[in-house]
Amino acid sequence: MNRKTTGRIFNIQRYSIHDGAGIRTLVFLKGCPLRCLWCSNPESQKGTPELGFIAARCVGVETCGAPCVAACPLAAIGLDAGGKSVVDRRVCDLCGRCAEACVQEAFKLVGRDMTVDEVLREIEKDRPFYRRSGGGVTIGGGEPLAQPRFTAELLEAAQEEYLHTAIETSGHAAWPHLERVLHAVDLVHFDLKHLDPDRHKALVGHTNELILDNLGRVLSIKQPQEVVIRIPLIPGCNDSVENISAAARYVARLGFTQVELIPYHRFGVSKYAQYGMPYPLERTAPLADTAVRELSALVERWGLLDVSGCF
Ligand code: SF4
Ligand code: SF4
Repeated sequence: MNRKTTGRIFNIQRYSIHDGAGIRTLVFLKGCPLRCLWCSNPESQKGTPELGFIAARCVGVETCGAPCVAACPLAAIGLDAGGKSVVDRRVCDLCGRCAEACVQEAFKLVGRDMTVDEVLREIEKDRPFYRRSGGGVTIGGGEPLAQPRFTAELLEAAQEEYLHTAIETSGHAAWPHLERVLHAVDLVHFDLKHLDPDRHKALVGHTNELILDNLGRVLSIKQPQEVVIRIPLIPGCNDSVENISAAARYVARLGFTQVELIPYHRFGVSKYAQYGMPYPLERTAPLADTAVRELSALVERWGLLDVSGCF
């Protein structure tokens, strides 16, 4: 293990109570091979740093003098008719000077390289909470296995420090990378988005063979109680009774015992505009609670425990 190995992080979120046992620190890694239509972290998708711009925070040149415009060495920032900033992303080289210049924090550069040691120091700040709550660190993303060496070394280092470890993965990764990580995690959240390969490709950009192959091997290393199969419920995409029933049957037959149904939400929608991206599910509304309860009952008919809301 090398604690000087660097990974690219886009966020470290402290005091989370929804991503594994107890109070947890979430380390979000940048980069993902999938492009789920409902992705709530669009800034995580590319492996490279990105500039976010929150237009609503810009108070305009009349109020602040627009130091961002002067700070930009490439003249990538102009002003619209109302005196508010506009970024030309084709010109921007991600130097970050606008983010330093703007006191309103309208600009944010995401994607920071940190060593295993540096991330561990951040995680350690919350150790008193872990001790009382049974919490620890969860590595998510993006896809943590898109940075396999860093993820493995961070998890191994965390375990060496007696921290409880968890990972959130799409499962779309080479088996040797997943295998190494499985040996260093106490809890695995493994996504299952659709059982049909063509539909899977239409929804996330890749077919599901690699994911299902990996899923079939997980219990060669982990115990069923150490794994939660996470199924997003996306209206019109994968929430049919046929798909959820087929997914429940599939994972039950593999020997898994716990699933977590994650109903579609729109929390990440505003971030698409901040990163200059279109939101693919603009017309999609969240499922009614009754529909979610019915799908949960369907899953439990296969002998699986729906742990949604347990964390
Ligand atoms: S982006 Fe920030 S510095 Fe630039 S005009 Fe808006 S508020 Fe001022
Ligand atoms: S990141 Fe640098 S190049 Fe890009 S808009 Fe800001 S100041 Fe200009």
